[in-house]
Amino acid sequence: MKHELPPVRGTLTEHRPLADLTWLRVGGPADVLFQPADEADLAAFLRALPEDVAVFPMGVGSNLIVRDGGLRGVVVRLGRGFNAIRTEGDRVIAGAAALDGHVARRAAAAGRDLTFLRTIPGAIGGAVRMNAGCYGTYVADRFESARAVTRAGRIAILGADDLGFRYRQTDLPEGWVITEATFRAPADDPAVLAARMEEQIARRDATQPTRERSAGSTFRNPAGFSSTGRADDCHDLKAWKLIDAAGLRGFSLGGARMSEKHPNFLINTGGASARELEELGELVRKRVYQHSGIQLEWEIMRVGETAP
Ligand SMILES: Cc1cc2nc3c(=O)[nH]c(=O)nc-3n(C[C@H](O)[C@H](O)[C@H](O)COP(=O)(O)OP(=O)(O)OC[C@H]3O[C@@H](n4cnc5c(N)ncnc54)[C@H](O)[C@@H]3O)c2cc1C
Repeated sequence: MKHELPPVRGTLTEHRPLADLTWLRVGGPADVLFQPADEADLAAFLRALPEDVAVFPMGVGSNLIVRDGGLRGVVVRLGRGFNAIRTEGDRVIAGAAALDGHVARRAAAAGRDLTFLRTIPGAIGGAVRMNAGCYGTYVADRFESARAVTRAGRIAILGADDLGFRYRQTDLPEGWVITEATFRAPADDPAVLAARMEEQIARRDATQPTRERSAGSTFRNPAGFSSTGRADDCHDLKAWKLIDAAGLRGFSLGGARMSEKHPNFLINTGGASARELEELGELVRKRVYQHSGIQLEWEIMRVGETAP
């Protein structure tokens, strides 16, 4: 496929395995992995890329199961050239490849509160796309605008209305790549913000299997989506409680296991395949439904093809 692709200044790699680019360490190859040099490189590439070639933007893979057969088309992964972070008054402007934790720390050092991002292991593009959130604050609460390159290679400036933020979901069109986001962040004392982040990390480590291979919450918390995206704070019907009540804490299939520490975390204990992880998740959905009559919905995105 590579010889048919437009010339770039960044890197194009054919048949690139994706497992090492995801937190769960599973997944087959991308037909092509594109790491653009900068936004102009990305835009020129997408303009020239035949329309029928699928484009999948990937962050740091902390919310993904890439299936064992891999992804057809072009996977775009942003790196250097997309990770600058700067503050201008109450605005924090971050490249889409900047890690959420770095953005939170840089903002705090400048006396701006984006502490909710500190413990989310993704990058800013994925945070905007997923309306990531934690401890009662979501991207939607601090978001001002984002730059994106459309599938046709145009630069678009997106406001909150364009993205339609919902619980772990937005309306970003397929194949569009977010390159930068601007947040409005309230002021606070840097020392207070630093202490808050330390406390959040400690809370995380106490309640979640942060040292194991997971993709965060496997299933959404049920009981509806609110327009503010706060479904998980408003309702007590936590997915983990349903899984626990169905006796599935520690339930496993091959190398895949529902965490003992937090039963809504699906873990790759070592040699799990994407198929095992997905099958275990489906089995959990079935058993929870049999036990409680509630249909759990995946929060982890599952993409690509199953292995033949
Ligand atoms: C231990 C752990 C804890 C977690 N805790 C939380 C939490 O508290 N709150 C929370 O919200 N999430 C949490 N997550 C899930 C995950 O970190 C978030 O969903 C995160 O925002 C995903 O970002 P990413 O860069 O890894 O995106 P990926 O997983 O790579 O991709 C996720 C989606 O975003 C899209 N995407 C990524 N980058 C771009 C881009 N530049 N342009 C367009 N689309 C893009 C992808 O196409 C895909 O649809 C956790 C995950 C783990 C492993």
